[in-house]
Amino acid sequence: MIISRVKGTRDFSPEEMRKWRYVENIIRKIFERYGYEEILTPTFEYLELFLKKSGDEIIQHAYVFEDKSGRKLILRPEETTPAIRFYVSGLRNRPHPLRLYYIVNCFRYEEPQAGRYREFWQAGVEIIGTNSPEAVAELIILANNVLEDLGLKNYEIRIGNIKLLKNILKEYDEKFQNKILRLIDKKEFDKLKSFKLKNEDELFRIINFKGDKNDLINICNDEDFINLLDYLDDASVKYKIDLSIARGLDYYSGIVFEIHSKKLGAQKQICGGGVYSLGELFGFDIKACGFAFGLDRLLLALEKENRLKNIGNEDKRFLIFIFDKKYFRKAIEIAKIVRRYFRCEIEIMRKKIKRALEYAINKNIDFLIILGEEIERDVILIKDLKRNIQKEIHINNLEDFLKNL
Ligand code: ATP
Ligand code: MG
Repeated sequence: MIISRVKGTRDFSPEEMRKWRYVENIIRKIFERYGYEEILTPTFEYLELFLKKSGDEIIQHAYVFEDKSGRKLILRPEETTPAIRFYVSGLRNRPHPLRLYYIVNCFRYEEPQAGRYREFWQAGVEIIGTNSPEAVAELIILANNVLEDLGLKNYEIRIGNIKLLKNILKEYDEKFQNKILRLIDKKEFDKLKSFKLKNEDELFRIINFKGDKNDLINICNDEDFINLLDYLDDASVKYKIDLSIARGLDYYSGIVFEIHSKKLGAQKQICGGGVYSLGELFGFDIKACGFAFGLDRLLLALEKENRLKNIGNEDKRFLIFIFDKKYFRKAIEIAKIVRRYFRCEIEIMRKKIKRALEYAINKNIDFLIILGEEIERDVILIKDLKRNIQKEIHINNLEDFLKNL
């Protein structure tokens, strides 16, 4: 029996990895240009870290296990909580705000489907030290900048404010509030009705709100929210107000936002974030906000818009063929020179020249370097496979040849 892949996980081919790294590099570059610095935390944490604030939804869908010493552990379902844990134990003394970013795999025990996996990747940022409207504006402008630079066109930024929802539900305890928020997040409005909530009319007025910035003033008087929208208008970032955005995690506490790709089906949310409060976990107030792109879905959206064609083929490829294994040492020497400039492989299967040529054409190799008897005089034959021309050169001239390509 062939052992197969674990359900909900994926293998990535060289072609897929090329696209993946291309997207990742653009994201990394923009995050860094905004002053964010990369962190990495362990793949697993104590379960306790996630129990209090992440919400039942996440815990129910987490990979939880015991190690050989009976420690209760969890594979990280998201990276905001570990980032804050790290901040508290090791980064607190740094100048604030801290701007951190991460690109990590996360694990959730969910029913796999297109755009929903059990191992997936998040590329996210956290601002620690403030949750001012300026900070949230920076986050949304940054996320928008990433999508612009990746060339994605059909997306929508939706902004809400969990404070408005929590305010209406303030007479209920936190657990029940979160249950209601979860239903709102999943857009299961019918189920909401069955609870006969005290302020039901007001709640529905909020979640059904369809207006713009000017209409917002009629239902709430939240200066931070209006400030944020003003900043986004000034920066020409397009958005929609959607007060039914409740997010799946219990730690969100203020302005929240999601970005949807219009080209994806049910799993269309490619980014989520907002203002959160995780400080209670550690016994003091921490002002913070952040967001995470779901890299897997972002790539799916880019593919749908044909943005990932011909990625990563720009570097020229060389293949060195040896007519006899006694030239292998020379091949290594020559490869060392070529690799200062371009990609270079050496033929190592003792192929006949015909087979080596077939391989080269198949692999889209640009130049074949042939080592035959002339190598005794330090002369090599270079075949330009794309233009179908060839010439002999002395090894001493190889570097000049490469420089002029
Ligand atoms: P959803 O409602 O689609 O489950 P979520 O609200 O659980 O998303 P977050 O916890 O905010 O998502 O995670 C941030 C991003 O990570 C999401 O916007 C999404 O792009 C991605 N994401 C979340 N869960 C998965 C998953 N199981 N597979 C792939 N990507 C995911
Ligand atoms: Mg989810």
